[in-house]
Amino acid sequence: MSINLEAEAAVAPGFVEKAPLERYVDPDRPSLVGRSRAELAAALGEIGVPPAQRKMRVQQLWHWLYVRGVTSFDAMTSVSKELRAELENRFTVARPEMVAEQVSVDGTRKWLLRLPGENPSVRPHEVECVYIPETGRGTLCVSSQVGCTLNCTFCHTGTQRLVRNLTAGEIVGQIMVARDRLGDWPGERPPDGAIVPTDGGRFVTNIVMMGMGEPLYNFEAVRDALLVVADNEGIAISRRKITVSTSGVVPNIKRTGDEIGVMLAVSLHAVRDDLRDELVPLNRKYPIEMLLEACRNYPGLTNAKRVTFEYVMLKGVNDSLADAKALVRLLAGIPAKINLIPFNPWPGTRYECSDWETIEKFSEVVFNAGYSAPVRTPRGRDILAACGQLKSATEKLSARERMTLRAMAMTD
Ligand code: SAH
Ligand code: SF4
Repeated sequence: MSINLEAEAAVAPGFVEKAPLERYVDPDRPSLVGRSRAELAAALGEIGVPPAQRKMRVQQLWHWLYVRGVTSFDAMTSVSKELRAELENRFTVARPEMVAEQVSVDGTRKWLLRLPGENPSVRPHEVECVYIPETGRGTLCVSSQVGCTLNCTFCHTGTQRLVRNLTAGEIVGQIMVARDRLGDWPGERPPDGAIVPTDGGRFVTNIVMMGMGEPLYNFEAVRDALLVVADNEGIAISRRKITVSTSGVVPNIKRTGDEIGVMLAVSLHAVRDDLRDELVPLNRKYPIEMLLEACRNYPGLTNAKRVTFEYVMLKGVNDSLADAKALVRLLAGIPAKINLIPFNPWPGTRYECSDWETIEKFSEVVFNAGYSAPVRTPRGRDILAACGQLKSATEKLSARERMTLRAMAMTD
C-alpha cells in the first residue's frame, strides 16, 4: 500500500480508520489465476523451466488461462505432459470458491465467494460479485476488500469490522468465476434460460469496482488485476469499460489514471464539507476542493472520458433542490457524469431513501444543467420501486440489490 495510513490519519483530527486485520497467506499450492506475464515467468522459474523457454511457455499459459479459461492444467493441450505434471505439483488454476449463486428474474446473478482467512482456524471470508445483463452489455460488479477500512455512515460494508485486502488473483478470480458460470469462454454456452447479451459478443463486457471495499486502499492489487483484465491478448476488457469507484483517496486518483488508465467514479454524496465529513469521514482528510482538484487533473480526462460522480439520495439529508443546484455549480468545468443512486437501506441504518418525486426533481436540475439523468431508465425504476421496502429483506438480498443498483447507475 502506497499510503501510510497511520501517519496520515494523525493529521486529520476526527478521522478514524480501521487497520486491515488480516493478511492473505498463500496456500501450499497457490493459484496462477490473476498472475501477470512476469509472475508467470517467475512461477515457471520456480519449477525449473530454463530462462530461454520461459517466454514461450508464458505465452501458452497466458492463452490457456485468460483466453480459454481452462480450469485444469490437463486441458492445456499445447503444453507438454511433463510440464503439465510439474505445474500441477506446485500450482493450481483455482478461482475463489463459489458457495452460492442467486439468479433474479431479470437475469441479474449474484455469486457468493469464499476466501480463505489468514490461517485455517479463522473463519473464511465471503465477498459478493454481481452480474447485470443488459442489451448489448453485461456488467460485473467486483469487490476489492473484505469489509472496508473506511466508515461511511450510510454504507453497510463500512460497519464491518473485519478487513482483508483481496489479492490480484482474487480480483481477477471474480471475473473468471463469472465467465465460468455464464459459459463465457470460447466454445462454451450459457446455462439454459440465462439472460445474457445476444449481440454475438461476450457476456461480461464491463467491470465496475463497486462491490465491497475501497479499491484505492488496495491500490497495487487492484492495479495488477485490472492490467491483466485489460490486456488485449487475454480477457481483453478495454480500459474504457472498466470503472474504479473511490470515496476519495486523493493521492491514488492520479495513480489510477497513470498506472491503470481506467474510468474513474467518485462517491461525492454531499456538496458541503460539513455534511461530507459526516457521510464520508475520509473527507476530513481529503476535503471536497482537494478531491475535485484531483478529478480535474485526472489523467486522460476529456469530454468523451468523463469522471462519474456518484450521489446517494438520502431523505432530508442531501436531497434538496439547493443541493442539486450546488452540485452542478461545484462540478462546472469538470468533464463529468452524475449518477444519482437511490439509498438502499439496511437493518439498523439511520438513513432513508429520498422519495421518488424528490429524486425526480433533483435529477431534473441535474438534467437541465446538461447532464444525463440516469435514474430515469425503466429498469432503474423497477429497482427504485423496491427502495425503502428492503428493510425487511435479508441482508444478502439487500447487498445484491445495492450492488445491482450501483452498477446499473454506472452503465446507463
Ligand atoms: N468504496 C468505494 C467503492 C464501493 S461502494 C466507494 O465508496 O466509492 C460503491 C458505491 O455505492 C459508492 O458510491 C457508495 O457510496 C455507494 N453505496 C454504499 N452504500 C450504499 C447504500 N446503502 N445505498 C446506496 N449506495 C451505497
Ligand atoms: Fe467503504 Fe465505499 Fe462503503 Fe465508504 S461507501 S465504507 S469507502 S465501501
